[in-house]
Amino acid sequence: MSRNDEIEELAEFVAGEHWHGSQVDPCHVASGSGLTFSFGHYEDYFDGLLECRAHRFHVYLNIDRHGSDCSARMRFSFAHELGHFFLDWHRHALEHGIPAHGSSADFQSSLAIEHEADLFAANLLLPKDKLKAAAHRHIDAAEIQRLAVLFGTSLSATAIRCALLDLSSLIVMGWTAQGRRWCWSSARYRPFGNKAFKNISALVRDSNTWHALNSPYSTQIAAPAKGTTLSAWFPAINAGSLHDDVLLEECICLGRYGALTILRPY
Ligand SMILES: [Zn+2]
Repeated sequence: MSRNDEIEELAEFVAGEHWHGSQVDPCHVASGSGLTFSFGHYEDYFDGLLECRAHRFHVYLNIDRHGSDCSARMRFSFAHELGHFFLDWHRHALEHGIPAHGSSADFQSSLAIEHEADLFAANLLLPKDKLKAAAHRHIDAAEIQRLAVLFGTSLSATAIRCALLDLSSLIVMGWTAQGRRWCWSSARYRPFGNKAFKNISALVRDSNTWHALNSPYSTQIAAPAKGTTLSAWFPAINAGSLHDDVLLEECICLGRYGALTILRPY
């Protein structure tokens, strides 16, 4: 069994133990595991942090970065810190004096332990079987929004999970004012990897994403889908070539967190 499989299996087991309605409550998981936690104001220092003192663990969660203690982003950060606790090699490192580190729930870290904690969080909050059972056959922006509400997860985490689980042919990208931060695809588009344009200036003018990133008053509303092509997003694809699929583009504005692009076959 690979390490990723091990992480997924453990997270789904923990989710099964604490599932209630259509969600898992990270507070419930922590309390049931002997962990203490607190929500505080830590400005911009971290999203969440797991500390070990005298073999006792405490999770610090930053309201300043998440707005409230029950927001979807907070739940993901909490689940990420639970990953650092439940994964033996993470917990043992903290017990043996490795300094606690602040985590960011933005799917950008290249550190293996951060990626592993994100993987644990995604599997805890959006378990594979439960998400597959709940999802409609075709995933679009509206369906991602519905699933995010159902599971109490962020739109970004939900969109990434739908793509990685191949629930539908899909490419999802996260943007901030600085450019594209991440890109994940279902199997059909995975060969193109994380190689989409990164610069906002490369975006097709009049695309939904361009409008979302250039509107100072964007709110969390998905505009109607627009026709586009794969080559408009991936520089390695030649326009008009066999690989240049015709797609539909939707974009969900994420307010101060940027925008989420959803591409699917036309
Ligand atoms: Zn972390």
